[in-house]
Amino acid sequence: MNEHKAHTKSIETISTANNNSNNNIALQIDEEAEKKEILRRYRKLLKSIKRKITPEERKNIRKAFDLAVKAHANIRRKSGEPYIYHPIAVAQICAEEMGLGDTSIICALLHDTVEDTDITLQDIEKLFGKKISTIINGLTKISNVLDNNKSIQAENFRKVLLAMAEDVRVILIKIADRLHNMRTLEHMSREQQIKIASETLFLYAPLAHRLGLNSIKTELEDLGLKYTNPEAYNEIAEKLKETEEERKKYINKFIQPVKKALEEKGFKFRIFGRPKSIYSIHNKMAKKHVTFEEIYDIFAIRIVIDSEPENEKSDCWEVYSIVTDIYHPYPDRLRDWISTPKSNGYESLHTTVMGPEGKWVEVQIRTTRMDELAEKGYAAHWKYKEASQERESRLEEWLRKVREALENPDSDALEFIDDFKLNLFSDEIYVFTPKGDMKTLPAGATALDFAFEIHTKIGEHAIGAKVNQKLVPLSHVLQSGDQVEILTSTKQKPSEDWLKFVVTARAKSKIKAALKEQRKKVAEEGKEVMKRKLQKLDIPFESDIINEMISFFKLPNVMELYYRVAVGNIDLPELKSFKKYKESKHKKSTVENNEKIETLVTRTRGKGDLLVIGDKMEQLDYKLSPCCNPIPGDDVFGFITTDEGIKIHRVNCPNAIHLLSHYAYRVVKAKWVNEHLLSFLAGIKVKGIDKLGLVNEITKVISNEHQVNMRSIKFDTEDGLFDGEIMVYVHDTKHLNRLIKNLKKVEGVTSVYRMDGVES
Ligand code: MN
Repeated sequence: MNEHKAHTKSIETISTANNNSNNNIALQIDEEAEKKEILRRYRKLLKSIKRKITPEERKNIRKAFDLAVKAHANIRRKSGEPYIYHPIAVAQICAEEMGLGDTSIICALLHDTVEDTDITLQDIEKLFGKKISTIINGLTKISNVLDNNKSIQAENFRKVLLAMAEDVRVILIKIADRLHNMRTLEHMSREQQIKIASETLFLYAPLAHRLGLNSIKTELEDLGLKYTNPEAYNEIAEKLKETEEERKKYINKFIQPVKKALEEKGFKFRIFGRPKSIYSIHNKMAKKHVTFEEIYDIFAIRIVIDSEPENEKSDCWEVYSIVTDIYHPYPDRLRDWISTPKSNGYESLHTTVMGPEGKWVEVQIRTTRMDELAEKGYAAHWKYKEASQERESRLEEWLRKVREALENPDSDALEFIDDFKLNLFSDEIYVFTPKGDMKTLPAGATALDFAFEIHTKIGEHAIGAKVNQKLVPLSHVLQSGDQVEILTSTKQKPSEDWLKFVVTARAKSKIKAALKEQRKKVAEEGKEVMKRKLQKLDIPFESDIINEMISFFKLPNVMELYYRVAVGNIDLPELKSFKKYKESKHKKSTVENNEKIETLVTRTRGKGDLLVIGDKMEQLDYKLSPCCNPIPGDDVFGFITTDEGIKIHRVNCPNAIHLLSHYAYRVVKAKWVNEHLLSFLAGIKVKGIDKLGLVNEITKVISNEHQVNMRSIKFDTEDGLFDGEIMVYVHDTKHLNRLIKNLKKVEGVTSVYRMDGVES
């Protein structure tokens, strides 16, 4: 059996054929009742289609449903449910939550057939035509890449994006697929949960955001957090519940006068308070190191008005004026995304005002149309076809950029992902060409980014820019509203420095490609130089020797070696030391190997049984990663590094999502056993208001805590606020959390949290 395949299949499928435990389930199942349930779910799906469908379309959907039922018969999900529930649920999400039409529903019903069953792409094309088989092909390609490789490997990511750029429905259905898998993630193993949830946070949530699927993005993020950091998730969820009553009261108090004023003006509207997502609250807490109680915008007030298309803008501004007559606005907190919508199509007016009891409150003003587009995104546009002409062209524009960025097969794919992702999530600015055409760029973009946006040739030859008639360097950061003119010279060439200040994926990949081209030319000269030098040293010019040299000088590839020879970085003295090493290595190699094995054995034994690693749960040599300093009790995983063996990270380590999503194939399971024998170093940050005797009290709490030893304590005071770092030895997380809890009780202390890294 293909182990790899079986492993990844477990994301969605399990076969019933030779699996005992599942046969047991199957025996207890009432097949008649199940058939009825499948039909009930199918009818519910049909009802949720927003648009009127023709009898012809209905017939095709039925045909797809029947085919999927037959193809997935006798297969069950991990939860024990019939597999067909999954494609129906995905189709339901497409119809109900994305507002997609019959083509997408048919594709969603069939999305796993080619991948998992005997049905071929040719069958699909014969039965449903070219369009649908193209989309299914895209979906199958993506799932081959994403699911079977255990991680989003760089080169494959490009293919995913290409499939997506072909037809946006491919990615919409894939997002629906992922959403349903996230909703049913509790049935998976802990390792699978962490992997799938990390990938969701890394790729799917940003994509959903980019496509304007706001409520889906929020749900993906919340579920992602729930599985990557359950503690934090539960804590916030609980606090939101605890404070719900109080919040409702406050929201009511805020809303009353606004409601009255809007009614008097004859508006038809809905006004309500919405809590922010758990994920965004968590992010804010982590970023600003504040507690839940300290976040002032736990919720926002939303006003959604009915408005005629031609009055939308003026109506929203009238509402703004009514609200700010009642509550005073915060001067710099006005965001007008109605005059200039975000490039994912988001339109709304945001302001922050001073509400009752001296609290800042965010108010969002928009029309019913804008609200629906913001929640359902791209797909909801069929309903507002005319009004969304511009919006559609913006999405088209974005897809064009994706396609373009992918065209350059030379750029480093992994770097490309990071550049690309940066662009997925960043805020935007709007700048103008000398002729007045508007260009959208990510916030922080420089004049050079703009140059590459206009044309690759202009970027490559840029020497400076005029922003609003004033001469500025290429590194000048642009602001919304700037008018930019690029100055060029035919003699100019891209340089390494440029990479330090461009931010768009496009500029980065174009510069990298040009630099690589330059390097290649230099390297070709270097190869000739190398031949001559080796001859002098009496070393043969052979590929084995060249390869040995690459690893001796710790270089990534042969081009880099030749390049360094060409620029004189590697010269005769270096080549001589290589020769020496080569001669001595030959003698020593057998002795060394024996030594290595011995030290490995003693080190492993010396460790005691602390951490078990891998599928077989063995005791292997490892290092605790300094970026998150895991201690027993932490949810951890092992990561196989290239030169330092296995490193152990916390699942909620700041680097975890990156590692798990980029390099899942290098991740190994790890689990603590026998955890009460040793102490571990952990850092605690304490903040608060300085007062006499505070340090004393804090140290008292620590020394009262049974079996905790303090290694160091450091306090800084500024303007009556103190900021302390305490290093303690603890046994496990339980122990640490109890200490943190007790420190929080000390009068004057406002926040206590565990530090991610421990600097020693
Ligand atoms: Mn699926």
